[in-house]
Amino acid sequence: MATRKPEGYLDGQPLHPESLMMGYGYRPELSQGAVKCPIFQTSTFVFASAEEGKAFFELAYGLRKQRPNEEMGLIYSRLNNPDLEILEDRLTIWDDAEAAAAFASGMAAISTTILTFLRPGEVVLHSEPVYGGTDYLLKHILPMFGIRCIGFPAQASEAEIAALISRSAGMGKLGMIYVETPANPTNTLVDIAACARLAQAHSHERQVLVAVDNTFLGPLWQQPLKHGADLVLYSATKYIGGHSDVIAGVCLGAKDLISQIKGFRTILGTMAGPNTSFLLMRSLETLKLRMTCQMKNARYVADFLADHPKVAKVHYLGHLTPEDAQYEIFHRQCTAPGAMISFEIVGGEAEAFRLLNSLRLIRLAVSLGSTESLAEHPATMTHADVDPEERMELGITPAMVRISVGVEHPEDIIADLRQALEQV
Ligand SMILES: *Cc1c(COP(=O)(O)O)cnc(C)c1O
Repeated sequence: MATRKPEGYLDGQPLHPESLMMGYGYRPELSQGAVKCPIFQTSTFVFASAEEGKAFFELAYGLRKQRPNEEMGLIYSRLNNPDLEILEDRLTIWDDAEAAAAFASGMAAISTTILTFLRPGEVVLHSEPVYGGTDYLLKHILPMFGIRCIGFPAQASEAEIAALISRSAGMGKLGMIYVETPANPTNTLVDIAACARLAQAHSHERQVLVAVDNTFLGPLWQQPLKHGADLVLYSATKYIGGHSDVIAGVCLGAKDLISQIKGFRTILGTMAGPNTSFLLMRSLETLKLRMTCQMKNARYVADFLADHPKVAKVHYLGHLTPEDAQYEIFHRQCTAPGAMISFEIVGGEAEAFRLLNSLRLIRLAVSLGSTESLAEHPATMTHADVDPEERMELGITPAMVRISVGVEHPEDIIADLRQALEQV
């Protein structure tokens, strides 16, 4: 459970996250009364005395225990910086996490976290598909360090994943279960609670950690820590940043886990800088507004697409029905369907390209979660690197188009899709 600062409460009641995003963790009296946290564009910090510098380093390098009420002093911006620390305090609020670490990118968060906890001879069990950069890390970089990975399809049942763990016991000791849910671009959900049960069952000499990449639905519509995950990861480039103007990442979890990650981050140098941290604090003020608007817009767009004669199939969490195996997971794990839609156009790559080339308001670009609507072609863009056979098995067809719905007026987004579909 989170340990909020006193300002996180009013008359003993916890304030809502959106109410805390304008100032939580920031004290104007320390910055000339500035209402917003300034950008501390500085690499290093002046110590009041040599003794103070010594005391800060003792704490930073774990040479002694923190005294009651002693705060870690500012040393050097690879270790700490006011923008980074205030951002991290603010980020803990949404996921109700004890601690947060912010990074220079989503991949910096993912790679630093994995390197902190996995050792040669160990195995990462991961859902499939995962983000392209993560996929490359798991399949091509980690094996160079003696860490092997085993993928399970996102839609696999708990029994199927358990069977896979037993079958692959000879490959090494299970060290982590790494989950990306919903899977991109098919919106297939992975059951986080089931993964947490499996991790528990295999935690003997050491804890098997469950890490969840929550970029697509979090932190508003899915909170993995509540379902048994140990670590939540984000590409903050997407919804958290939300303006297509910053690359950043986040990891959240219990204090002891995050402090181990920060130990690695200090040496790997993967932390977020002051400018990035400032931009993310700016973005967090409107996170709920943006994500709520995008989620509402997406329903109109998905309904329009589902009814269109040139659309063969729509992959949208809001269209799951009780007959669907994923329906139960969705209602237990998610609080809304988010704003990512994939659909298959009638035809193939040529028809999908014709549609993409005809869009006028929606931008043709990869990435997602920003204020502007974006469309892309997974088979030849975000998932071009996936083995073609595997791509078809995952349901990533040449006819598939992925849309990240933005905050424009929903009628305009639909009008653009309607005129572009007419061109096909
Ligand atoms: C974009 C993305 C990443 C990588 O994040 P960067 O900020 O680009 O490094 C990781 N996971 C998911 C699900 C993503 O969409």
